[in-house]
Amino acid sequence: MASDQAAEVSKTGGSLEDRISQPDTASSGTPQASNAPTSWADEVASSTETDGAVAGAANTAQEPSIPQIDGASSAPGATNLHEPEFNVNVKLSDLQADPNNPLFSIKTFEELGLEPTILRGLTMMNFRKPSKIQERALPLLLNNPPTNMIGQSQSGTGKTAAFVLNILSRLDLSTPEMQKSPQALVLAPSRELARQIVGVIQVMGSFVEGLVVGTAVPADTNSRPSRLECSVVVGTPGTVMDQIKKRIFLTQRVKVLVLDEADNMLDLQGMGDQCIRVKQLLPKTIQVVLFSATFPVHVRRYASKFAPGANELTLEHEDLTVEGIKQLYLDCESDEDKYNVLVKLYGLLTIGSSIIFVKTRQSAQEIEKRMTAEGHTVVSLTGGVEGSKRDDTIDKFRSGEAKVLITTNVLARGIDVSTVSMVINYDIPELHDPHSRERKADPQTYLHRIGRTGRFGRVGVSISFVANREEWQMLMAIQDFFKTDITRIDTRDWDEVEEIIKKTIKNPRSHANYSQQQ
Ligand code: ADP
Ligand code: MG
Repeated sequence: MASDQAAEVSKTGGSLEDRISQPDTASSGTPQASNAPTSWADEVASSTETDGAVAGAANTAQEPSIPQIDGASSAPGATNLHEPEFNVNVKLSDLQADPNNPLFSIKTFEELGLEPTILRGLTMMNFRKPSKIQERALPLLLNNPPTNMIGQSQSGTGKTAAFVLNILSRLDLSTPEMQKSPQALVLAPSRELARQIVGVIQVMGSFVEGLVVGTAVPADTNSRPSRLECSVVVGTPGTVMDQIKKRIFLTQRVKVLVLDEADNMLDLQGMGDQCIRVKQLLPKTIQVVLFSATFPVHVRRYASKFAPGANELTLEHEDLTVEGIKQLYLDCESDEDKYNVLVKLYGLLTIGSSIIFVKTRQSAQEIEKRMTAEGHTVVSLTGGVEGSKRDDTIDKFRSGEAKVLITTNVLARGIDVSTVSMVINYDIPELHDPHSRERKADPQTYLHRIGRTGRFGRVGVSISFVANREEWQMLMAIQDFFKTDITRIDTRDWDEVEEIIKKTIKNPRSHANYSQQQ
């Protein structure tokens, strides 16, 4: 479905006002000026891929996809059962008692006035106390008459629960008809994130009687469309748009619209339009809720139009980095040398799970092939792959069956797998500007990528590969933007590299301690 494809292929960079269309295939850039210490590959791929969901007839997987909420939990209530030893550096209760920590709160979930059935879900998930964003956003979200919200909070601080608890609190499931009528819609930029949110709603709503959650993501084949009979729909904008048009998704009872990763949704080529059009097809009185860790200035203006009169919870750039994520970089002699460094790193370290972010689908595939040939167990997930295959891959990664995931920006946002202790920026994230030859860093994408580790008080390490002076400058621009520290590690001494990384992510605290000390 052409419209679907257009909607779901999202590109980094470019504001809504300044839409840029980008080719989807890699192309050669101009050779770099030779101010770098070594020679490096001339090739600059212009494809900065994000979602790139497969084309296919709009369809609905009404069956709940995966009931798990992250890689550490394969069953409801099992959230913390498989915490690797090194994942938590300080007691969660200490973090949550520190007013300067984004996980801090004074109140309990009970004090936030949530229904007992919903509280039971939280207890089962082992959520003891709200995080700052949950504590602040929930009263504003739950207030009547409903008010729109723009909520910003660091990666891994529990934004999902903030909007899911509002949705669960607002549903009217008193009759079978209402249970089958979509009353809340969540839009997310990738099928993987949409499926993950479905999982969270199902687990959190385990005790909410009559709750049915539907997924609206592109299907592989042209299967027979049937009406979405569920109380909450989570999907990607292109598919949702299509299903509304086909009247598979009836919108008259929708009262809450959530855009997760809202800046990404509103800013991107295709997706911004789709989100606007979806909103136009919903009742005028809906509560619009926008959440993200980042709201760059040009999107913020637009977000305020999309969610008029919203309560805003915002943060400054310098408050966006997460303390538990140690940011490192290392020099590579050339683009080709990046691969050698990567293999060396993996030969050296046994790390929980890790994600390697690359710029293009092609390089993801190539690295996967080469690493596999050398005996490493890796999987890759990019937008070019069929939906069900993508589902298999991410599920394997969540379960820990595959420990190394190579991907593009398609998975830069929202994915929550608590066992991820290392993120590699094999390529520095870049903004694509067809009008300029100058390479420009993409700080937002950097932040989201590294935010795949260090979830909810856990520790993690990010390592960015720098193969030339320009890339180094881009990384330093990112460092300045967030007023953070990205520390160089010296690859001339691999023992030291090993020590630094291990020291960062290794911690004597065991899972048992973690559970008891919360
Ligand atoms: P964000 O969307 O802010 O990046 P998520 O909503 O994905 O973060 O939450 C990150 C992790 O923190 C998830 O695994 C979630 O289950 C966990 N989490 C969220 N809120 C709490 C809480 N109050 N107590 C304990 N764990 C929580
Ligand atoms: Mg999130």
